[in-house]
Amino acid sequence: MKSLEYVPVPAFEDNYIWLVSDGCDAFAVDPGEAAPVRAYLAKRGWRLTAILLTHHHQDHVGGVAELLRTQPASHPLAVYGPADEAIDRLTQRLRGGDRVQIASPAAEFTVLDVPGHTSGHIAYFQAADPRGTPHVFCGDTLFACGCGRLFEGTPRQMLASLDALAALPGATEVHCAHEYTLSNIKFALACEPGNADLHAWHEEAHARRARNEPTLPTTIAHERAVNPFLRADVAAVQHTLAEQLHETVPDRLTSFTLMREWKNRFR
Ligand code: ZN
Ligand code: FE
Repeated sequence: MKSLEYVPVPAFEDNYIWLVSDGCDAFAVDPGEAAPVRAYLAKRGWRLTAILLTHHHQDHVGGVAELLRTQPASHPLAVYGPADEAIDRLTQRLRGGDRVQIASPAAEFTVLDVPGHTSGHIAYFQAADPRGTPHVFCGDTLFACGCGRLFEGTPRQMLASLDALAALPGATEVHCAHEYTLSNIKFALACEPGNADLHAWHEEAHARRARNEPTLPTTIAHERAVNPFLRADVAAVQHTLAEQLHETVPDRLTSFTLMREWKNRFR
């Protein structure tokens, strides 16, 4: 089987539209705009075959109509997306547990329900690429060192969604939809100033951004070690929350809830 290339195509201020290709055909994840996708496909000589959508926000679906309009009639586009969100032009409506089989480039996914950022948000888990590496496309649920804002869901839902992602194999490459890493690390350091892995990652991420490179993909194992939202049960994190917010932190859900609220106003 041909190997696959996973490319984060920058869009808007800080979005990434992931393109996955075998060198001939490609699919796009969360194309919020069409122009950067078409430009990148043209540059590499790739042909678009499918679109995968994680949730209904415009910065993730805004390019779909234009991509459909500019697609040659000889090569119809499949458009996969969450069944429970209002998104136009879907050809396949997905729920947790569903399987997605893309013919070309050959790729198979299991759909995960990950509500919280939006109520019908889904993620796409690929258990093994042709090299055996697992991948997940998680939209605005899990970010490098952070998580999405709770626009439509509850902290309990988001925590369960993050738990489901954190339970994936440690080697899973995590393809997030935004470059938020440096500002997320700033908050993570406030939560857990004694985390040596986090300090090392801060230096590395800073160097990558200085070279104008993406900080993604990250991995599940790395996020378990440095992402405060996956570490709501860690004593040092709970200690910081109690001190900074003058709150008692009786359990993990409270810890997560306080952390998410603190992040919303953190500068
Ligand atoms: Zn979003
Ligand atoms: Fe977004």
